[in-house]
Amino acid sequence: MAGAAAAALSKSQPQKALEKLGLRRDIDLALHLPLRYEDETRITRLLDARDGDMVQIEAQVTHSEVAFRPRRQLRVTVDDGSDTCVLRFINFYPSHQKTLSVGARVRVRGEIRGGFVSREMVHPGFRVAGGELATALTPVYPTVAGLPQAYLRKAVLGGLSRADLSETIPEEFLNKNLPQPLSSLIQALSFLHQPPPEVMLATLENRSHPAWQRLKAEELLAQQLSQLQARRVRAAMRAPALVPPAMRGPQCTLQAQLLERLPFRLTAAQQRVGAEIAADLQKNLPMHRLLQGDVGSGKTVVAALAAARCMDAGWQCALMAPTEILAEQHFRKLIGWLEPLGIQTAWLTGSQKAKERREALALIASGAAGLVVGTHAVIQDKVIFKNLALAIIDEQHRFGVAQRLALRSKMTEGGEEPHLLMMTATPIPRTLAMSYYADLDVSMIDELPPGRTPIVTKVVAEARRDEVVERIRGQLLDGRQVYWVCPLIEESESVDLINATQTHEALNAALPGTQVGLLHSRMPVAEKKAVMALFTSGQVGVLVSTTVIEVGVDVPNASLMVIEHAERFGLSQLHQLRGRVGRGASASACVLLYSTGEAPRLGETARARLRAMVETQDGFEIARRDLEIRGPGEFLGARQSGAPLLRFADLATDTELLTWARTLAPVMLDKYPDLTHRHILRWLGGKAEFLKA
Ligand code: ADP
Ligand code: MG
Repeated sequence: MAGAAAAALSKSQPQKALEKLGLRRDIDLALHLPLRYEDETRITRLLDARDGDMVQIEAQVTHSEVAFRPRRQLRVTVDDGSDTCVLRFINFYPSHQKTLSVGARVRVRGEIRGGFVSREMVHPGFRVAGGELATALTPVYPTVAGLPQAYLRKAVLGGLSRADLSETIPEEFLNKNLPQPLSSLIQALSFLHQPPPEVMLATLENRSHPAWQRLKAEELLAQQLSQLQARRVRAAMRAPALVPPAMRGPQCTLQAQLLERLPFRLTAAQQRVGAEIAADLQKNLPMHRLLQGDVGSGKTVVAALAAARCMDAGWQCALMAPTEILAEQHFRKLIGWLEPLGIQTAWLTGSQKAKERREALALIASGAAGLVVGTHAVIQDKVIFKNLALAIIDEQHRFGVAQRLALRSKMTEGGEEPHLLMMTATPIPRTLAMSYYADLDVSMIDELPPGRTPIVTKVVAEARRDEVVERIRGQLLDGRQVYWVCPLIEESESVDLINATQTHEALNAALPGTQVGLLHSRMPVAEKKAVMALFTSGQVGVLVSTTVIEVGVDVPNASLMVIEHAERFGLSQLHQLRGRVGRGASASACVLLYSTGEAPRLGETARARLRAMVETQDGFEIARRDLEIRGPGEFLGARQSGAPLLRFADLATDTELLTWARTLAPVMLDKYPDLTHRHILRWLGGKAEFLKA
C-alpha cells in the first residue's frame, strides 16, 4: 500500500494526465488518434494561400505597432515577397514584440483570413525563420490540461512501436460486402499517426481515408462483439418466470383489477408494449427491455401493469427514479392505483429519517412490501429484498451502469437475476439503438393518449420579455398555470440560482395577486415537495424553476411553458421540458426566450435547435435532429454511463461499416473465439465488463 502510494506520488503530471485520458496500455496509446494535423512540411507563398487555409509562411516584418482600436492589440505587417499579411495579437508580451520587430525574418503558422484592409492571421504561432521542415504531417491529439502535445506525441509513438498490432479481424472478412477492402491495422495506424506530406488532408480530417475506415471498422466490430457476448451471457442466466396464480382466476388478479379501475382505456400502443413485457416476464430468462415513449405517452401505467403482474406471481417489484422529487411525482399516480388494491408500498429515499428508513427496510426484508419505490437509495447495500423479481428504472439514461448492476444484484434467491425494465422519454434513433443497444429489446409507445392538443412553440427574443409576461397574465386570468424554466449553467450552480431567484422576484412584482413559486436544485427536499404540492393543487400559478422539472411532472392545468435562455439547452432537453404542457385538453404554448448576449446573433447550432423545436413535436424527429446536431455522445449520458462510446465511427454516416460489423460479429464469435477475445480486449480492455449491464 505504502509503496503504491509512493509510486503514485512520484508520477509526473503528464503521466497522471495520460491515465486520466485512459491511456494506460501501449495499445491504448496506439489507438489514441489525432484530431487533426498541422502541415509543417512546407512553406506556402502568401500569394498561393486561400482564405481559410492553415499555412506556414516565411516573411519579413515591415511594420509593427500597438493599436488601441477596437481594443488594445499588437499589429504586425509581414511581407514574403509575394504578398503581405497582418498578424494580430490581443495578448502579447514584450518578448513577442522583440521577435516580431521590424526587419526580422519570421516563420509564421496560422489560419489566413481576408481582413478588412489586408489579409490577416489572428494569434498565429511564430518563431525566427529558418530551421528544418518537418517530413511528416504533425498530428494534433485530443488532450487534457497538463499534457503538452509534444509529450503526448512521444508517448503515442512509443506505444505504437511497442504495442502488439497483429491482426484480429479474420482475413475472410476484410473484403466482405465493403466498397473497398480494409487495410491492415499496422498500416492504418502508422499512416494516421504519421501521414506523409503529400496526403490529402481533407480525407484525413473528414475521416473518409481508407486508414480511418479500418479503424472505424475495428471499433464498431469491438462494440458489436462485446454486446453480442453480453447477450449470450445473459441468455445463460435465469430469472423467475412470473406466471399469474391459476387458483385465483383471472378476474381477481391485481392486474385485472388495476385495468378495471383505470379512468381511461389503454391506447393500442400501450396494449402492445404491455403484451411484449408480459411475454418476457413469463419466461425464466431475465428480461432486459427498454421502453421508449415520448413525454406524455403514458409509460407509467405500463410500468404499473408490469408491477402488478410481478406481484400477482408473488414477487417483489422495485421502482427507481433519478431524483426524489421525480420518484414522488412520477410514482404517486402509480401508487394511487395500486395501494387501494391492498398493495403495501415501501419508500426509500436519501432524505428519509432513520426511523422511517428502518421501518421501510423491515417491510422490504420481510416481503410485506410488494412494491418498493425510491431513488438510488433502493440499491444501497443495506436494502435486502425478500424476493425481488422485477426492477423498473425510469429515465434510464440518468442512471449509471454501475447502479443498474447493483440493482440486478439485489436478487436474493439462488443465482437468479431480476427482470429489468428501463423506461426513457428520450427516443433513440434506429442506428443508435442498433449500435448501442444491440443487447436490449426495445418496446415503443408510438402514440399519444387521445385528447391532447398540439403545443404551439414560439421563439422570442429576450428583448420582448414584457410581452411574454403579458401573455402569462392572460393564461392566469383563464385559470391556467405557467412554468418558467431558468437555465442550468454547468460551471456555476450559484449563478444559476441568482438567475432563477431574480426571475422569481421580477415575476412576483409583475404579477400581483398571483402566487409565484420557486423551485431549485439547492432547496431541501421537503421544501421542494411543498412547492410542488402547491403548484399541483393550483394555489401557485407560476412556477419558476431550474431544470428540476425536466421529467415527470404532471400538472394538466399548466398550459404555458416559458424557457429562458433557451439557446443554452440541448434539443432533447427542450423537448422534455415542453412535454410538461399540453397534457390537458386546453391549447398550450411553449415560449423559447433567447438572448444573444454580446454576440451579434445566435450561433449556428443554437439556431438549428430552436428551429427544430418550432418545426416538430415528434420525439423521434427531435431525436434524429439532435443526433445530427451534436452526435451520439451526450445522447446516452456518456459521462454517467461509463460505457465506452464510439470515438471514431459516426453512426450517421458509417452505416455501411455498422452493417458490416453487425453481420460479422455472430460469425466471428462462433468461428474465431480467440480472435474475438483478443479483439475485445484490445479495444475495450477492462471496460467490457461494463457493457453487460
Ligand atoms: P410518460 O410516458 O411521460 O411517463 P405518463 O405516464 O406520466 O407519461 O402519462 C401522462 C398522462 O397521461 C398522465 O396523466 C396519465 O394518467 C395519462 N394517460 C396515460 N395513458 C392514458 C390513456 N390511455 N388515456 C388517457 N390518458 C392517459
Ligand atoms: Mg414518466
